[in-house]
Amino acid sequence: MANPRTLVKSPTLSWGFYGHRLQLYRRTVPHNDFQVLLRWAENMPRGAAVFTSNVDGQFQKAGFRDDVVAECHGSIHMLQCSEVCTDAIWSSDTFEPVIDEADCRLLNTLPTCPHSRVFRLRLR
Ligand SMILES: [Zn+2]
Repeated sequence: MANPRTLVKSPTLSWGFYGHRLQLYRRTVPHNDFQVLLRWAENMPRGAAVFTSNVDGQFQKAGFRDDVVAECHGSIHMLQCSEVCTDAIWSSDTFEPVIDEADCRLLNTLPTCPHSRVFRLRLR
């Protein structure tokens, strides 16, 4: 599921999988241990930074600033163009997936690259 081929071959299945996870992570409340880590970080003389393989954004939700969190596997809360028309990434906040959980399918419109749209408009 987690590869570019699935996204190309079956985008509604791929987005059914990731859209469901996106919804779950948006609803997740960070457990108390994140607050313990945040207090430790705040009490460090030079602050602290986070390096995580988590993609769920829970450190930021718990209060860590974006600029001190390095997400080595990326973030499910950010989107990028599958056609690689740009290296830019952007927030998924405006994308509200509607998922058929039994079939793991996205039912609403796939998210689109805002940069591709701008490029197409410029060609007209
Ligand atoms: Zn694009």
